[in-house]
Amino acid sequence: DSPRPMSMPTRFHHIDHGKSTLSDRLLEHTGTISASDGNKQILDKLDVERERGITVKAQTCTMLYHHPTTQLDYLLHLVDTPGHVDFRAEAQPVVNFYLAFAQGLTLVPVVNKIDLPTADVDRALGQLESVFELDTSAAVRVSAKTGQGVGDILPAVIEHVPAPDGDAAKPLRMLLVDLWYDTFKGVVLLVRVFDGTVRAGDKLVSMGTGNEYTVGEKVLRAGQVGYVFFNPGMKKIQDAKLGDTFTAVGSEGVVEPYPGFEEPKPMVFVVAFPTDQGDYHKLEDSIGQLVLNDRSITLRKDFSEALGAGWRLGFLGSLHCSVFQDRLRQEHGADIIITEPAVPTKIVWSNGGAETVITNPAEFPDNEDVRMRKAAIYEPFVLATVTLPDEYLGRVIELCENARGRQKSLEFFHATQVILKYEVPMSSLVDDLFGKLKGATKGYATLDYEDAGWRPSSLVKMSLLVNKKPVDAIARVVHSSQVDRLGRQWVTKFKEHVERQMFEVIIQAAAGKRIVARETIKPFRKDVLAKLHASDISRRRKLLEKQKAGRKRLRAVGNVVIEQAAFQKFLSK
Ligand code: GDP
Ligand code: MG
Repeated sequence: DSPRPMSMPTRFHHIDHGKSTLSDRLLEHTGTISASDGNKQILDKLDVERERGITVKAQTCTMLYHHPTTQLDYLLHLVDTPGHVDFRAEAQPVVNFYLAFAQGLTLVPVVNKIDLPTADVDRALGQLESVFELDTSAAVRVSAKTGQGVGDILPAVIEHVPAPDGDAAKPLRMLLVDLWYDTFKGVVLLVRVFDGTVRAGDKLVSMGTGNEYTVGEKVLRAGQVGYVFFNPGMKKIQDAKLGDTFTAVGSEGVVEPYPGFEEPKPMVFVVAFPTDQGDYHKLEDSIGQLVLNDRSITLRKDFSEALGAGWRLGFLGSLHCSVFQDRLRQEHGADIIITEPAVPTKIVWSNGGAETVITNPAEFPDNEDVRMRKAAIYEPFVLATVTLPDEYLGRVIELCENARGRQKSLEFFHATQVILKYEVPMSSLVDDLFGKLKGATKGYATLDYEDAGWRPSSLVKMSLLVNKKPVDAIARVVHSSQVDRLGRQWVTKFKEHVERQMFEVIIQAAAGKRIVARETIKPFRKDVLAKLHASDISRRRKLLEKQKAGRKRLRAVGNVVIEQAAFQKFLSK
C-alpha cells in the first residue's frame, strides 16, 4: 500500500489499494489456486467481504514457491489484512508499517495499479521515501489487475527478507494469532511457531490460562505459521486469548511467554434481542460463534423489560458494527431486534475524581446527580480526514458543521481536490456521516478517521415514555442540540406502531425529566367496542389464535400492551 493518500487523485482510502486482488495473483502465481474467474479475492472469504468489497478479517495462506533461477522451493506465508480503520484490531496498513518498522522487519515496497492512466509511480515512491524513509530501490511495480510485474514480487521478498531464525529443536514457543470456529473441528487456532515443533498428540499448555490440551492434527516447525486444533477441542471462547503463548507441558519454566496483544477498545454499542425469546439459545450460539471469529467485539448479557433477554455488543466503529449485523443476518438468518448504535459516555465525578465509562443509557446519571456531585460529562471525538472535489466544498462543510464538527484544516492539492480535517463526535460517524458525505458529493468523498479522545459535552438521556413508563430499550444519550428534533421523531414514529387500546395511551419523549414531545392515541369509543363485541366474532377468534401463536410477542409497558413487532419496526431504520 502507498502510505499517504496523495498518490491516487480521487479514491485514497487505506482500503481499495488492491491488497486482496494482489493476494489472488500471488496465489495463482504459486499455483496455490488456479487462475479461473471464479477465484476472485479468494482470501475475502466472508459473504460481506465479497459483497462490500472490503476485507474484514486478516486471512492467511501458505504458498509453496519454486524460484525460477535458484531452482529452490520456498515456503511462504501470505497474510491479507483489512485496511479500514474500524478493523484496526485486525491490522491496518499505516499502523502495520510502524509496527513492522519498530520490530526491525524488512519491508519490500510494492506499488500497485500501475495500469491506471492516472498512476504516478515516481510520486508514490517519492512519498514512501519522504514519509516513511523507506529505501525504494528494491520497490516492485505491479498491476494486480493485468498481472504485470507480479512475478517480480516473490523473488524480491526472498532476496531481501531473511528467513525466520527459530530453532525447531528448542522447547515449543507458539503464539496464538487468530482463531475461529469450524463446525467440524471446533475451535481452530492460527499460530506462529517461533521455536520447537508441534505434532499430533503433543500435550500443550496455554501460558495465559494454564489450561492443557492435546494437539489433534498438524505438524508445524519453528518459523511456520499454520492451523492447529485440539482434541478434545477448546470449549469456551474465554479459553482462547489472542496473543497467548503455548508451550509443551513441562516446558512452562523455561519458555518466556510473549507480552500478549493490546485489547481493542470498543466505541460503538448495540443491544441485540431475539424477536422470540424462545430463540434465545439459538441466537446466543450464533452470536458466540461470530464473536469467536472476531475477538475485537465485546459481549455482555443484557435485559430489557420491554424486549426481554439479549446481549450488549461493543464494536470498534460503525462499519464494524454494521458488518457484524450483516453477518449475523446472512450467516445465521437470525430473527433479531437490534437497537440503534450508540457511543459510550465518560463521566468524571467531582472535578477530576473517579471516572466511569458507561455504554448503557440506563446508567446515565440524572441532572440532579450531575449537579450535586459536580460531574463532568464527556463524549468521544475523532479526527476525520475528508477528501473531496472542490465543487462540493460548501455542502461538505455544512454537513460537517451540522455534525457538530470543528474544522482543523483545509488544504488543496491537484488544484481541484480538497483535504478537510474536522474534529467530529464519534456519534456523528455512527449517524452515518460517511453516507451523507457520499450523498452530497456523488460518491466522491472519502473519509478516514483516527481517535481524538474525549471532549466535554452537553449530553442528556432521552427516554420514551408510554403512559409515563419508560421503554428501557429505547433510551439514548444524545447531545442537547438534538433533543427536540429527536423527541418529535420518536413520538411520531412510535405512535404509528401502537394499536388503539381500551384506554388512552400517551407517548412522550423526555430529555432527563423534561418532556419534549407528546402524542396521544385515543381509546376505542364505547360503541365501537360494543359493536366489536357483538358482531365481529370471527375477528375475535382470529385475534385469540394470533395471541396463542405469538404469546411471547406481546410486551407490556406498564398497563399498555404493545406488539413486539412495534419495537422492531421502531428500532429498525
Ligand atoms: P484492498 O482493499 O486493498 O484489499 O483492495 P481490493 O483488492 O479489494 O481492490 C480494490 C479495487 O481495486 C477493486 O475494485 C479491484 O478490482 C481494483 N484493483 C486492484 N488492483 C488493481 C490494479 O492493479 N489495477 C486496477 N486498475 N485496479 C485494481
Ligand atoms: Mg482487501
